[in-house]
Amino acid sequence: MLHNIRWRIALPYVLLILTAMGALSLYLSNAARNSALAELESNLQIEARAVVENVRPALPAGDGRVGELDALAQRWADILSARVTIIGPAGEILGESHADAAMMANHLRRPEVQEALVTGAGSNMRFSDTLQQEMMYAALPVQVDGELVGFVRVALPIDRVQAPIVDLRNTIFTAALLATIFAVLLAVAIAARTALPLRRLTRVARRMAEGDLDARLLVTSRDEIGELTQAFNYMGEQLREKVNTLAEERGLLATVLELMVDGVLVTDSDGRVQLLNPAAAQLLNTQEEEALGLSFAQVARHYQLIDLWRQCQASGEEQSEAVEIEAQDLFLHVVVTPLQDGRQSSLVLLHDLTQLRRLQTVRRDFISNISHELRTPLASLKALVETLRDTALDDPPAARRFLDRADQEVDALTQMVQELLELSRIESGKAPLRLAPTPVADVLLPPLERLKPQARRGNLTLSMEPLPDLPDVLVDAERARQVVTNLVHNAIKFTPPGGAITVRARLAPSQDAVAVSVEDTGVGIPARDQSRIFERFYKADRARSGGGTGLGLAIVRHLVQAHGGRIRVQSREGQGSTFTFTLPVASETSPQPPEPPPQPAPDRPS
Ligand code: ADP
Repeated sequence: MLHNIRWRIALPYVLLILTAMGALSLYLSNAARNSALAELESNLQIEARAVVENVRPALPAGDGRVGELDALAQRWADILSARVTIIGPAGEILGESHADAAMMANHLRRPEVQEALVTGAGSNMRFSDTLQQEMMYAALPVQVDGELVGFVRVALPIDRVQAPIVDLRNTIFTAALLATIFAVLLAVAIAARTALPLRRLTRVARRMAEGDLDARLLVTSRDEIGELTQAFNYMGEQLREKVNTLAEERGLLATVLELMVDGVLVTDSDGRVQLLNPAAAQLLNTQEEEALGLSFAQVARHYQLIDLWRQCQASGEEQSEAVEIEAQDLFLHVVVTPLQDGRQSSLVLLHDLTQLRRLQTVRRDFISNISHELRTPLASLKALVETLRDTALDDPPAARRFLDRADQEVDALTQMVQELLELSRIESGKAPLRLAPTPVADVLLPPLERLKPQARRGNLTLSMEPLPDLPDVLVDAERARQVVTNLVHNAIKFTPPGGAITVRARLAPSQDAVAVSVEDTGVGIPARDQSRIFERFYKADRARSGGGTGLGLAIVRHLVQAHGGRIRVQSREGQGSTFTFTLPVASETSPQPPEPPPQPAPDRPS
């Protein structure tokens, strides 16, 4: 109950009212009693005086006999409706209205008699042994000619005055009780009214705590409660703004993390993953929902990553290292930083350098390849020239042979340089395509016709499956033919005698492209090389590629991509390869054939 503010306000009032009312009623009832007793006393004195005047003649001058005046006493007692006692000068009972005088002790020592003796009038209130009740006594001396002849005592039971006093006291108590009840109710009502706004405030505060930040209170007064309500509403406003700002910042952070290319992962002090962005999930080959709450070791699953994270935890310092995850063919630069949030959290950053490293490898390979490709013909040229100079000049037929060989080497070098130039022109977009709707047959047939003799020499069957009804493709015809030439030429080169090369074309499922495939039954390409054969100078099988430069497929891929198409290879070592590329279907709005015709691109040597 004391935890309730209503009662805390009301209770002191209630106690105060109770005390005040109690004290007041006690005081009033006492005062009433005292005044009643004083009145009783003075009435008794008056009555005693009347009795004295009438008793005086009957009192004997000398010692009287006990009980001799009982009748007189009785008569006055009847008149006054009180107890009347007539006492002799020595204290003996001469007359008594309410008891047997003979049984009564000497009364000279009674306080009222003593007082009367001394002061001329005495009174006393006490318990009467004779009548066994509380009495008020008034005594007066009786004198005849200045000589004391006795005392008259009149007494009444206090009950007589007590009854009205009790009545009065009851009335006072009832009134006090009613007043108290009324005051308590009033105090409780006032307290309830005072506490009401506080209760409302509590309710709204609770709603806010539960997330309803729009909860507000109506300001109904201008007192302290009103001010508190206003302050509370203001606080709600501020809170909502802060929460909104935080939510916006959080959203922004989430978006940044979502879109980041680098992997970000945060672990708590127990080493559990608290946060990871999609990039991190992808790099670590896991799902965001699965990884959250797991230990870092369970999520990273790589000894180097786990070691790095442990070192950071142990030293409290940033750690960074290049980590290669071979299973996923990934090369990462990993930074583990302790977060200064006092909770021993760590931030793990994963930069994916796989692509960069691949490019570096390609560049390195490119340089070493080009040096290698140049060195061989240059070395043989040098040898030819030296031989010519030293010995063959004197032997014209031999000299002619050497010169023919030198010419071939120079042709091969020129071919390579041309291909390289062509490649870089396509790559840099300096060789714009002259696109025009072209029948698929126009792209496929000329190269096949041209390469047929070469296939025959290799004892290979080169054939084309009958073309279905296909729409025209939007291509630069010369360059599209170059793609076919290079692919078929490779197929011839890498297929042992007796094999077959089949070219086919069909409409791609998406209907917006024609897919052309060149299939052979040749040596095939090892799986590990398949992703790299489209790189410049890359040769899967150097022994077999013979005079090839390793540039043919690089040109093919660039040309196909420049047309908006895609190329892929399917191959099994020892069983053959199928290269498939797409060319876009020409729509009705496609441009018409341009004039003049395009410059022919270099074909592969046949
Ligand atoms: P080149 O033929 O001049 O060596 P390419 O770029 O045309 O260069 O081909 C690159 C490599 O791809 C070749 O060296 C060869 O190892 C492989 N390759 C290409 N086509 C085929 C094929 N049809 N069958 C087997 N291997 C092939």
